[in-house]
Amino acid sequence: DTLEPKYKRVMLKISGEALMGDAGYGLNPPTVARIAREVKSVHDMGVEICMVIGGGNIFRGLAGSAQGMERTTADYMGMLATVMNALAMQSALEALGVYTRVISAIPMDQVCEPYIRRRAVRHLEKKRVCIFAAGTGNPYFTTDTAATLRANEMACEAIFKGTKVDGVYDKDPNKYPDATRYEEVSYDEALAKRLGVMDASAIALARDNNMPIIVFSLDEPGGFRGILSGQGTYTKVH
Ligand code: UDP
Repeated sequence: DTLEPKYKRVMLKISGEALMGDAGYGLNPPTVARIAREVKSVHDMGVEICMVIGGGNIFRGLAGSAQGMERTTADYMGMLATVMNALAMQSALEALGVYTRVISAIPMDQVCEPYIRRRAVRHLEKKRVCIFAAGTGNPYFTTDTAATLRANEMACEAIFKGTKVDGVYDKDPNKYPDATRYEEVSYDEALAKRLGVMDASAIALARDNNMPIIVFSLDEPGGFRGILSGQGTYTKVH
């Protein structure tokens, strides 16, 4: 085994939908376990790992407000959904023997730790996987922004956005066979062309702090480990 990690500390961002497998809603335990194995394989290389998981498999604030719910209340429900996903990932990782902490932007001491930056850094130094939950703790934001914020605060070298496709394409590769993948793309081009890397506020926050975003497929077994070792296909936004 000759794979050498090219990074010491990274942020892995996945959407809530990544956890639902083929189901249309909620959590699919084998899918959560599969992603946990990907994380463990990188953890085994000695990489310090932060994670942010979305909540869209359970609840999205915008969907709630479209149905007449007050927006900030709906957003808090979305944030709570991310806590459930974080707990599911914690359970799956610890079943594999990986030590973790779930760290919430909204204190809920019986459930997980509150976010205290220095404490989270210490967990990383001790090789605990830090799963940041409840987004930024603020309505009107997304977990993409939360991932970018925490990646900066934790001094991660890059954000790895795990998706269903192996990068950013000029059009939807599932619909158009002639879609082409960007090897790399600038933040400004991703914003101007609305390439769907992350939402605009997250990309702008990454740009303003020179935080690279690497979009890769989390569907390939061993993919995360390969990408961290400089192998495989991906798009680098920088
Ligand atoms: N959310 C929020 N503030 C944050 C992060 C998330 O209000 O800082 C809410 C928002 O309603 C969002 C929901 O939580 O729709 C779930 O997060 P997101 O949509 O980012 O999940 P994903 O699409 O990645 O699954």
